[in-house]
Amino acid sequence: MSGRRRVLVLGGTTEARELARRLATAPEVDVTSSLAGRVRDPVLPEGEVRVGGFGGEAGLARWLIEQSIHRVIDATHPFAATISSHAAQAAAQVHVPLLVLRRPAWVPGVGDRWHAVGSLQQAARILPRVGRRVLLTTGRQGVDAFAHLDDLAFVVRTVDPPDVPLPRQHTLLFDRGPYTLDGELGLMVRHGIDVVVTKNSGGQATAAKLEAAQRLGIPVVMVSRPAPPEGVPVVDTVEDVLSWLDRGPV
Ligand code: NAP
Repeated sequence: MSGRRRVLVLGGTTEARELARRLATAPEVDVTSSLAGRVRDPVLPEGEVRVGGFGGEAGLARWLIEQSIHRVIDATHPFAATISSHAAQAAAQVHVPLLVLRRPAWVPGVGDRWHAVGSLQQAARILPRVGRRVLLTTGRQGVDAFAHLDDLAFVVRTVDPPDVPLPRQHTLLFDRGPYTLDGELGLMVRHGIDVVVTKNSGGQATAAKLEAAQRLGIPVVMVSRPAPPEGVPVVDTVEDVLSWLDRGPV
């Protein structure tokens, strides 16, 4: 293999930052991380960073050519389905190999009382039958799916303030992981939480709420992930990405 390899990491996750950190010191690799620009004060990855959308799949395909990118790693959040689909289409169009890095989904254990749903809207539909005092941790976008639930009290935890309609009874909590078991237990007890709503993001940083809910006997409404784009290889560790990048000429 000769020459420097230019790698685009589509980011916005802990794993993407870890990958960028590893690639920043890898020999003969130039890494650029891409962030959507949604978070006001993002934790920046090491190496070069670009911020903002590409302008759809066509814009991304153009960018890959202009920047002479050799490989793309889609290390975006499991629920960021649009950018993942754009990446799959753009990479195929311009014949740049693409790999998806997805952390494994959470799976229920003994004592967990999970209600699996397919969307935030479905979560909102079943919620009044599951609890009255809700810890809502599904992120800033999509909180409006719960805005009509006037009889329920919500603790809405997000990184930045939501800019969509909120439920009538709500307390806003601005925070970002990693969270601890003690912290999550304290939060749930303090607010009298009797149901947790979360996306199945997976990963360690935000998993403590699940153990806390299990210990307190609190049910969890778990929004299932969208499927990754068809036909694109998927791995679940940074190590797997590094060996994929090392394999074969690029
Ligand atoms: P999305 O719905 O899949 O993407 C919407 C649009 O945002 C895309 O079409 C693209 O715009 C732009 N975009 C998204 N990710 C980008 C990236 N890494 N670099 C450049 N442009 C990007 O995405 P989302 O769910 O809003 O998530 C946005 C970002 O937040 C992602 O990077 C994701 O990793 C991170 N994140 C998402 C969640 C979540 O629950 N969805 C949670 C934590 C972190 P153009 O079409 O103009 O290219």
